[in-house]
Order: sequence, then structure tokens, then C-alpha cells
Amino acid sequence: TYHVTVVASPSRSGDGLQEAIDRRLNEVNRQLSTWQEDSEISRFNRVAGVGEEFPISSDFLAVMEAAAEVHTLSGGAWDGTVSPLVVLWGFGPGGPSLSSPSDERIAQTLDEVGFDKIEIRPMGALVKRHAAVTVDLSSIAKGYGVDAVAGILREEGFSDFLVEIGGEVFGAGRRRDGRPWRVGINRPDPEAGSGEVYKIVPLGDQALATSGDYRSYVLEDGRRRSHVIDPRTGEPVTNRVVSATVLAPSCMRADGLATAVMVMGPEAGLALVEGLDGVEALIVVERRGGFLEEHPSSGFRTEDAPDQ
Ligand code: ADP
Ligand code: MG
Repeated sequence: TYHVTVVASPSRSGDGLQEAIDRRLNEVNRQLSTWQEDSEISRFNRVAGVGEEFPISSDFLAVMEAAAEVHTLSGGAWDGTVSPLVVLWGFGPGGPSLSSPSDERIAQTLDEVGFDKIEIRPMGALVKRHAAVTVDLSSIAKGYGVDAVAGILREEGFSDFLVEIGGEVFGAGRRRDGRPWRVGINRPDPEAGSGEVYKIVPLGDQALATSGDYRSYVLEDGRRRSHVIDPRTGEPVTNRVVSATVLAPSCMRADGLATAVMVMGPEAGLALVEGLDGVEALIVVERRGGFLEEHPSSGFRTEDAPDQ
């Protein structure tokens, strides 16, 4: 689902916008959705030949290039080829599984994982360097979808709007009343309702993405097993980060970095964010007894949520 709010005017109504947005999102899905068997990304994943050149269209290329950047910036903590490990740890389409895989299976699976096992040709092609490598851009493509919709709205002459796809948002310009767009971050707690606001973040021509680990996990001996995998070890992260929120100039970057920071943890994650222009973050760690410890970057501003 998505939500788009635009500030319209007598000279510029929202008529016909939905069709334009749906057309654009369908186009992005045909390239990037791993849920569609005939999407470009799914067809690339089925390519068996090492060294075979697979031509890709411009959206796929743009996301692969941004993904390569997030992979490098994060020192490999973000890796779009991680899905065999996600499946191995019981978070695949077949539903959760409880037992932990053996060290041997982890090592075997790690062999198929690694973003540098895919060569990106800037003219618009991908080449596998390992026959078994596959790519899943779900932790960055939603953000790209938000940016793509924002692009359509600007083309259509709007400069004040809010776009949201699956919790990732971009706020451009201002609301109708002239005040900044404000976005709520969900309380990072499995018991919290999806409408329960934890913090409010004002947006000024910025994107905001949140990666959370409080809704998607497996319980193992009473402990939560994270669905976020550290591709450097092949194991679920244990840093107790329950949510990572990132503000950035583009939603694709915010989305990818939110997942990256979730893997990196508060120290390394904040060190990365502080070094990037226009990027801020709030990392929340759960301590004993459910106490939430907040790690904001130096420029992260929030308003307290009203009591509810
Ligand atoms: P959401 O989908 O709720 O926005 P994220 O943006 O954090 O959550 O993305 C979760 C996805 O990231 C899952 O599909 C999972 O398979 C994948 N994933 C898990 N670990 C990593 C990682 N280290 N790098 C990239 N993607 C990952
Ligand atoms: Mg993400």
C-alpha cells in the first residue's frame, strides 16, 4: 500500500495523479520485485551462467549502483545478496523455523553471498561472478519507489507533498497550513499498535526510513532471533537494536542505510552517519527489562509524542 498527500491549488488539481503514480510503481515492480516471477530481478536471479551479460533497465541499474554504495559505506554490513542466509535462518517464504543451522551449512551458504559476486556494468548490465548468487533489493527498493513517486509529482507540477510506501516516507515543501510535514516513528515494541507514536520527526525536503526488529522475529529459548542477518558472520545480529531510523536527502539512501545501521549497531552505525552529508539517524537499543536506550546522531531533532 502507499499514501500520497499533495497540496493542490485551483490551477493544479490532483486529477489523474493516481493513474500516473500506479503506472510508475508498476514499472518499478516489473524491474525490482522478487515477488513477480517475470520481473527483471527474478529473471536475473535465474541466470545460471557465470560471466553472462544480463542487460538491465535504468531503474534496476540506479538501485544496484546505490546498493553498491551502501554496501561499501557499511563495510559489507548491508548486502543485497543475503537472502540465502535469511532463508537458512528460518525467515524464508516457507514460514519461521526454530532450529539453528549448523556451522557447516552457514559456511556453505556464505559462499553464495557477497555483493561483489555481481559485477555492475555502468552501460546497463549485470554479470554473475558466482553461479549461485542472487539479489534481493527489498530493503532499499521501497525507498526507491518513494523517490520515483516524488519524481512523478514534481513532473506533474507539485512541490508540496508527502509520499509513503510501507512506512518509508519523503516530505517535500510544506503542508497546506505552511507548517512542515511531521512523521511519527512507531513505538519499537511488539505489543505496540501500528499507530502508536514514539517520536515525531519534522521533514523538510527529506526522506525518513525505519528498519525495525520488533515485528519480525523468531522466538528461540525465549529469546528473539533477529530477521536481520550480519553477512560478515552469516548469523542474525545480536546487538539488540530494535529500531533504526534514518533521515536522508533520498528515500533510497535512507532505506538502505536504515537496514545497514541496524546491522552495524549504535557505535559503528552512528560513526557512519556522522560522516555523511545530510544524513541523521536515531538508533534504539533494548536493554534489560525492556528499557529503550536512544542513540541519536548529532543533528537528529525530534518532538516528543503527545501522551496517548
Ligand atoms: P522493512 O522491509 O520492514 O522496511 P528492512 O528495510 O530492514 O525492513 O528490510 C528487511 C529486509 O532486509 C528483509 O527482506 C531481509 O531479508 C533483508 N536483510 C536482512 N539482513 C540484511 C542485510 N544485512 N543486508 C541487506 N538486507 C538484509
Ligand atoms: Mg530498509
